[in-house]
Amino acid sequence: LTKHLTSTELLRDRGYVDGNWTGGNGTATFDVLNPATGEKLATLPEMGATETSAAIDAAHKAQPAWAARPAKERSAILRRWHDLMVTNADELAAILTAEMGKPLADAKGEILYAASYVEWYAEEAKRINGETIPAPSADKRMLVIRQPVGVVGTITPWNFPAAMIARKVAPALAVGCTVVSKPAEQTPLSAIALAVLAEKAGVPAGVFNVVLGTDGPAIGKELCFNPKVRKISFTGSTEVGRILMRQCADQIKKVSLELGGNAPFIVFDDADIDAAVDGALTSKYRNAGQTCVCANRIYVQSNVYDAFAEKLAAKVKQLSVGSGFDKGVSIGPLIEEAAIEKVEAHIADAVSRGAKILSGGKRFAGEGTFFQPTILTGVDRTMKVAREETFGPVAPLFRFGTVDDVIAQANDTEFGLAAYFFAEDLKKVWKVAEALEYGMVGINTGLISSEAAPFGGIKQSGLGREGSHHGADDYLEMKYLCMGNL
Ligand code: ADP
Repeated sequence: LTKHLTSTELLRDRGYVDGNWTGGNGTATFDVLNPATGEKLATLPEMGATETSAAIDAAHKAQPAWAARPAKERSAILRRWHDLMVTNADELAAILTAEMGKPLADAKGEILYAASYVEWYAEEAKRINGETIPAPSADKRMLVIRQPVGVVGTITPWNFPAAMIARKVAPALAVGCTVVSKPAEQTPLSAIALAVLAEKAGVPAGVFNVVLGTDGPAIGKELCFNPKVRKISFTGSTEVGRILMRQCADQIKKVSLELGGNAPFIVFDDADIDAAVDGALTSKYRNAGQTCVCANRIYVQSNVYDAFAEKLAAKVKQLSVGSGFDKGVSIGPLIEEAAIEKVEAHIADAVSRGAKILSGGKRFAGEGTFFQPTILTGVDRTMKVAREETFGPVAPLFRFGTVDDVIAQANDTEFGLAAYFFAEDLKKVWKVAEALEYGMVGINTGLISSEAAPFGGIKQSGLGREGSHHGADDYLEMKYLCMGNL
């Protein structure tokens, strides 16, 4: 890893608790690997329930003073953190590519995207305004103030090792919460690097803590059952989200969940087909298909189906797969062997039920977990690709006839995160936008994420929103003050 860095300043082989670089019992460790090569990048301490509990104590102790700081001061600290992320973007990107695999340019894009949340909430910190309500009687005055929920536990996945942390920690810190953060075991080095910069930016001891370890369930239980933690914010699978929500039920602990998706991507026959192809390309193959908002099911209207498939295949042939550090690479490795197996199983299932492979379909021989960008045609609703999130570079093309038919198919899932469609007719655009049961809808675009917009899902894709002024609400309680006898 050091060969990709100009200094080792952002590397640490410890967790971060109460302002100290610390961790574990000194014996149990785990390794962080580069998915492109299998090479070992770091050996880190296994931290478990005990260390998590210590981190919670630190966060709990630090919280009142942090909340009492004037918003302007919290804002200035977050702004410094943002600035440090931007000036260190190349180093942070190299760390991210090494542990996660995405192409270096995408990794840098993610770092700047992560920084944009920190900047946004540095600004929002100053605008956590309350409310005054005209009282129904003359002797009363009514007000609403908003206060931080307290200690927040965050659990995040490996596909956006920096952005998923920034999206939670920035609003939490901005409004006066403190955080115990558990990054994914595959990608803890980005979290560590962010903590190094947070410390440098002046985030006080105990305000942002990072617990490392592979025992997600043990760390998760401590975060859910420790009464000092008032809220859990999780991004990951629906399966784990459900466990966390259940565990939080005992103490009626607040939860924000950003879970799986099964995004439909619909191409109507009046769409600009070239734009739709470009949109599908970014939405499907970004991060090698490993994002929760990646197009998972591509529905194309019958009369443009063949033309769309042909144009998409031509573009897919130009995608180059390889190590994220190699120039010109647009698709890196999948995160691990199990991811390859899932992709292979989905393709095999589709083919056994009559789908055809128009492009790709195989893993690359040799080291690393690389998979060819794939297109399947002749796909139907009986196949696994219709119901499950593939989380890999596979584009299944479904054929549809009418607007109502495709709306029904698109909504026929327990998920409701992102959806996309391409169409020109204004009436149809409104009808489809309103009918899609999703938290986010991209219209004539395959890229929707922005720090300025509320990101989140409905149905079994989650609770709460990240980004925009709404994102701060998830970390705030409102308190109604009633003044009487006036
Ligand atoms: P993914 O498929 O992206 O790995 P997961 O939901 O399994 O999604 O993991 C997301 C995060 O949740 C990771 O940080 C992982 O360590 C953590 N995790 C996994 N299982 C649990 C659990 N039972 N309780 C708490 N966290 C968990």
